[in-house]
Amino acid sequence: MRINSKRIFKLFTIILITPIILGCGGKDNKTNSGKIRTVSSITIINDVVKNIGGDKIEAVSICGVGLDPHTYKPKPNDPRLISESDIVFINGFALEHWIEEMVRNAGGNKKVVTVTEGLTPMTDEKGYGDPDPHAWFNVQNVKTYATNIEKALSEYDKPNATYYKQNLDTYLKKLDSLDAWIKTEIAMIPPEKRVLITSHDAFRYFGKAYGLEVRGLQGISTEAKAQTEDVKKLIDLIKERKLSSVFIETSVNPKLLEEISKETGATVGGTLFSDSVGNEGTPEGTYTGAVTFNVNTIVKALK
Ligand SMILES: [Zn+2]
Repeated sequence: MRINSKRIFKLFTIILITPIILGCGGKDNKTNSGKIRTVSSITIINDVVKNIGGDKIEAVSICGVGLDPHTYKPKPNDPRLISESDIVFINGFALEHWIEEMVRNAGGNKKVVTVTEGLTPMTDEKGYGDPDPHAWFNVQNVKTYATNIEKALSEYDKPNATYYKQNLDTYLKKLDSLDAWIKTEIAMIPPEKRVLITSHDAFRYFGKAYGLEVRGLQGISTEAKAQTEDVKKLIDLIKERKLSSVFIETSVNPKLLEEISKETGATVGGTLFSDSVGNEGTPEGTYTGAVTFNVNTIVKALK
């Protein structure tokens, strides 16, 4: 049987062309659409990345909406997301232990950017002096996040550096006005009522920046179990100071705080976004939207 020479030609064409197609954009690892693939550890960072990268990037978050990054268990698909990405953005300050191994397995040359670089962490005074990862709750700190992200994108994708810089400038202005707005809002709460009681200690940067006393039932990580003594202390504080509200969080189990609310008569003042933004497509699905929601909730409950 003779093999059709046309077919052989076709086969050779496929063999020759395939590597060229696969190689398209391969050198700089861009997607088929020419976009840069970014992976962020948490939704908060992912949103800032989207603001700077705009339509030049495809951005995903490993730890999804409403999930707790302190206790996150990687999903089977996560290592692939990391290995196929161009840049990985992490918070640092000991938040994402689970990402280190995936980055190591993805090969030695993965570009990993720690967005808190240049910031000094607050430390956990209750525990062993660990860095407190929740730096994003001082809006001024997120200007550092955004600037580090812009620098990384501009270095990686030089032809679009002007675009990233413009997005950064716009975003920094947005952060400045959010920061100023929070200050005027918090000023409406009587000073003696400026106490924020939450499930875990995610709001220490927020409290320091905007003048609220903060008390979390668990420490700076949800990994630590609340001790009976901590529960008792919190109940005493609420009764002593006649505090009217406590707050639960979208990414933390509310059970214990709800019990404290029953025990003390303090109402649950609302649910706050702590370590995750809200659902995509809602106003709270962005960092600035989630912070705005938190401030409105806090002021309404404590005022
Ligand atoms: Zn947290």
